[in-house]
Amino acid sequence: MTSVAAEHYRLLVIEDEVDIRRAVGAALRDQHPAIIEASTGQAGVEAVDASHPDLVILDLGLPDLDGLAVCERIRAMTAAPIIVLTARHTESDTVALLNAGADDYITKPFSTQELAARVAAQLRRARVPHAEHEVIVADGLSIDVHRRQASRDGNVIRLTPIEWELLSVLVSDPGRVFTHQQLFAAVWKRAFGDARLYLRVHVTNLRRKIERNPADPRLIITEPGVGYRFISPP
Ligand code: CA
Repeated sequence: MTSVAAEHYRLLVIEDEVDIRRAVGAALRDQHPAIIEASTGQAGVEAVDASHPDLVILDLGLPDLDGLAVCERIRAMTAAPIIVLTARHTESDTVALLNAGADDYITKPFSTQELAARVAAQLRRARVPHAEHEVIVADGLSIDVHRRQASRDGNVIRLTPIEWELLSVLVSDPGRVFTHQQLFAAVWKRAFGDARLYLRVHVTNLRRKIERNPADPRLIITEPGVGYRFISPP
């Protein structure tokens, strides 16, 4: 894997409030001098087309277009990570955001350190190839996705086929939030049924097998009301 210097990344910030644009710029400019700014949804979509940013920070509250629609339009144009800034925070809003192609979201008011960390995580994700044929090592746990083998500290962990499917989906994109419906559709291959209930049962079983302390999970993280993500701790 080639490492790409941070300063080569082009970031696009779409936000009408100049104070927040400034704060975002101040938080990120040290690491990422190439920051493009847009103050409307339309200007943002045009900037994606013209500048091909490596990452987009999109505020949902825009004066001209619905932020969710802007997110969908940008997702149709680029695979670059989209981090949404949102004042809304109901579960259904968050699920709608992820379905519209957002990779992550951060609720206002947010700390600039938090934003910088999310940006770094998304840029890291974007340049790591998907892990289908890799052995993933996280917190003493080793997962060979291709051979369907997992072990901790040399001891083989036996997983059921459903647990394998679930773990494979989660580790295919570390850091990404998968919604209940996305996981349910990917693992059970159907759209009906109580996705949350199925997932709660199987995630609990999976944690019991793979987490050091299932009561304090560090690998499979619950996003309340939204879904789950796999974190690979440093
Ligand atoms: Ca705004």
